[in-house]
Amino acid sequence: MNPASVRAGWPTLADILAARQRIAGTALQTPLVPSQYLTKASGRDFLLKLEMTQPTGAFKLRGAANAVFALPGDVPGVVCCSTGNHGRSVAFAAKKRGLRAVVCMSALVPNAKVEGIRALGAEVRIVGRSQDEALAESLRLRDEEGLVEVSPFDDALVIAGQGTIGLEILEERPDVETLLIPLSGGGLAAGIAIAAKANKPAVKVIGVSMDRGAAMEASIRAGHPVAVTEVASLADSLGGGIGLENRLSFAICRELLDAVVLVSEEEIYRAMQTLYYEDRLVAEGASVVGIAAMQAGKLDPLPPGPVAAIITGRNLDMKQYSDIMRGANIDLDGTIVRGRRYGE
Ligand SMILES: *Cc1c(COP(=O)(O)O)cnc(C)c1O
Repeated sequence: MNPASVRAGWPTLADILAARQRIAGTALQTPLVPSQYLTKASGRDFLLKLEMTQPTGAFKLRGAANAVFALPGDVPGVVCCSTGNHGRSVAFAAKKRGLRAVVCMSALVPNAKVEGIRALGAEVRIVGRSQDEALAESLRLRDEEGLVEVSPFDDALVIAGQGTIGLEILEERPDVETLLIPLSGGGLAAGIAIAAKANKPAVKVIGVSMDRGAAMEASIRAGHPVAVTEVASLADSLGGGIGLENRLSFAICRELLDAVVLVSEEEIYRAMQTLYYEDRLVAEGASVVGIAAMQAGKLDPLPPGPVAAIITGRNLDMKQYSDIMRGANIDLDGTIVRGRRYGE
């Protein structure tokens, strides 16, 4: 990466290499596998980085473990807000260190995710119907109980942890030219962009969000962090704002992302079916937005070389998932996503 584009306070390649050491033995080095179907459909090598195979079912273990393991020994515990996957990963890492963990979530978080967090021994607080309310509760507990707050995306250690994915992809496949990254608060995209562009400045890093409440996309367009209305989505893990006081992930994404693409709920629905029926992979809606963007023709023109899509997680509601697999309509808080049987 052009050193001029690295700003003071941003995580560096050295921080990402340190993160890799710190989280080894907790977060896995995940498989990078070719998809025959998507390779044919896109006309270029199409690789899938299987982050849903992490022990917590999502990549967020990388950032959470890096942040929790870096804490001094005498902290009273950790607290976070989460759309589900970050909370589960913080709970997992805190348990490994014997620390108390409190996870604040909104009522929009699917029950399967809430139960997964409780099962790891963390305390769960359900507050309000937005990530902003969950964040406010998390900050209150930080201030009143002295717990250390671990942001899901706006934290240098979290971003460095997520960046280890970028190292793994380009070490294994230095010929990759395009990275498709599900984008919400931007910790994942920021970390991967720093790691990938340090190794290969010409690599294209494309963020993909759902078109309902895409906070980072709206913020980049506005030139500053903006609030969005949070609505239910098949990509529930991509919900929530980026924080009006965002310190890191917004600036890094604005500087380093080559493009941000938005996909519809119907496109996400199709991509979940594609991954299951063609590649036999179970992945949650947030994970498949890169595939959805390719299938919808929203990435054109795409560089000719290999593409890697990060399949970020698999913590889904099995009832909704099986409805999608059989082509049923999905009711998202009153908005109907029209179903279709795969292949029809
Ligand atoms: C959190 C999450 C994302 C988005 O990561 P950000 O760092 O918030 O942009 C994507 N997919 C899944 C499954 C997630 O849990």
